[in-house]
Amino acid sequence: MNQDTQGPGSDTQTQHDQHGRWPKAESVEDFRRNLATVHGRIAAACERAGRDPASVRLLPVSKTVEEARIRLAYAAGCRYLGENKLQEVSRKWDAMADLTDLKWSVIGHLQTNKAKLVARYAAEFQALDSLRVAEALDRRLQAEGRALDVFVQVNTSGEASKYGLHPDETAAFLRQMPSFPALRVRGLMTLAVFSAEAARVRECFILLRSLRDRLRQDCPAGIGLDDLSMGMSGDYEIAIEEGATVVRVGQAIFGARNTPDSYYWPTDPGADSAA
Ligand SMILES: *Cc1c(COP(=O)(O)O)cnc(C)c1O
Repeated sequence: MNQDTQGPGSDTQTQHDQHGRWPKAESVEDFRRNLATVHGRIAAACERAGRDPASVRLLPVSKTVEEARIRLAYAAGCRYLGENKLQEVSRKWDAMADLTDLKWSVIGHLQTNKAKLVARYAAEFQALDSLRVAEALDRRLQAEGRALDVFVQVNTSGEASKYGLHPDETAAFLRQMPSFPALRVRGLMTLAVFSAEAARVRECFILLRSLRDRLRQDCPAGIGLDDLSMGMSGDYEIAIEEGATVVRVGQAIFGARNTPDSYYWPTDPGADSAA
């Protein structure tokens, strides 16, 4: 792993120029090919960083993708899918309840009134960013008699449009986590700045990793910080070079989305929404 931007992977560029041009997967074969391509790039990034490819989990992100194509991805071997919005994924939970070994990771901001759904149906929640949500989730999980793997989301880009704790608040937040026994904290999650400048993107990932390394030194018992969920279609290779253990990849597997990113991450007024 690189200690700074001069490391062996420092030439790796973002793939943000692919934006809107990822080919749409419309058959099981298409999915197999796209998954193989992404796995190949993950392996190459691991090689550059001197890491074992088995230390990186690929989480395919199926938001905006309709049921029929999700079933093709399932047929191609996907058993774990990421979704950003509760309204959308709860419809999918109903429609695809027959796929009993398909697990769902909720990777987007959660409102407390939706905590019950996550507690009941999700296998993982990656966007924990407030004590209110932690409390609501923990209460609902206890009622369901289950525990949930969670990631604490940190805002590493400093953009007001991105969710997540300020890096400086994270230590205090983690100290509260033992009060929520149904939440199994696995690590930290972030979204990098959407920029074609690889160095700026890389800074976000370095920040999350160094924050994790620091927090690990006096982490409360039972709180795991092994995992770093960072990197998406445009930047997962850089994220892996900087220590990602989970990459959340949508468009490079499913194809370009029609929904603009501003739907998920409202841009600041006047900011360039094309990012
Ligand atoms: C949509 C989304 C991703 C994946 O983005 P792609 O550009 O489709 O790879 C990753 N993380 C979060 C939180 C998302 O909402």
